[in-house]
Amino acid sequence: MIETIYIEEAVRSHPRTSEILARFPGARRIRCHRYGEVFNPRGQDFRIQKRRPALILAEKFKNFVLPAPEGFGIGGSENFYFSHMLNCLYDCRYCFLQGMYQSAHYVMFVNHESFMDAIDKRLEETKESQAVTFFSGYDCDSLALESVTGFVKAFLPFFRERPRALLELRTKSVRVQELLKTEPFENCVTAFSFTPAEISEKTEHGVPPVASRIEAMAKLAEAGWKVGLRLDPLIYHKGFENSYSKLVRDIFNAVPPEAVHSTSLGPMRFPKAMYDRIVRLYPDDRLLAGPLSPSNGMVTYRRHVEEEMTEVCRALLGEYVPEEKFFHCTPWA
Ligand code: SF4
Repeated sequence: MIETIYIEEAVRSHPRTSEILARFPGARRIRCHRYGEVFNPRGQDFRIQKRRPALILAEKFKNFVLPAPEGFGIGGSENFYFSHMLNCLYDCRYCFLQGMYQSAHYVMFVNHESFMDAIDKRLEETKESQAVTFFSGYDCDSLALESVTGFVKAFLPFFRERPRALLELRTKSVRVQELLKTEPFENCVTAFSFTPAEISEKTEHGVPPVASRIEAMAKLAEAGWKVGLRLDPLIYHKGFENSYSKLVRDIFNAVPPEAVHSTSLGPMRFPKAMYDRIVRLYPDDRLLAGPLSPSNGMVTYRRHVEEEMTEVCRALLGEYVPEEKFFHCTPWA
């Protein structure tokens, strides 16, 4: 899967680097000074790199844990995100990462302990009475590359000991083995994102089928883990009421509502410059030619379309989970 691994000088002797290199004995190894030399230059072909991304092992020095965008939350009074990785195994046509980075290579920060220290610092800065949420799947999928990163394995014991800190693992993956091997605890939510199967097949390239993700979600729920349901982004299409209705029904036929920590909806929304870059990458994509239009520097569905979808999906979720578990997440609001 990984044919080339770039290794920053600073992490050459890090134990996590050695573990990962041992997993890919046939990969070409290239040393670099800082990951930005490989990752940041302009003019890289994102589409070609996406077919065969390299792995870059790097050290992160600052900005380990950042405030989540305004409007982003699942009930905590303080919301932060952290990214142990940049970029994703999957290739969703609406993904903002393709409009954000010059490169499709995976950057993995091996200094997990620095993230943990930064999480502790954020906790110290908040009051004991405050529930604080840490979102982990913002610049990557939290579980998809677990066999390479060991992220979940490293962070579950850490969060287990800090009950005031809620960890959200956001994913479209079915790689839940590490969770299933672990005794569940309350302050971890594995949140699965879905679009209806017919949309997923066309737009979420490389992502496991909807049915498999529902199965993974059900297994976690059965094992006693809290799960989350994210209809994010909501994608408009002819007959969307029926397809979202089927999706929600299929999920709750398999997953008991009591196991659901939270549900949320996320609108399709891009900063204009990001949208333009994605359209340049995929000019023939019908999703991006849908009823989206620019407004105040953002590209979104027209207001009435967004409102109608939100209303329909909120009602569908309301048949299974109470209002207090429902959140509307609007990044870049
Ligand atoms: S799974 Fe999430 S992070 Fe990965 S490509 Fe799709 S939208 Fe982007």
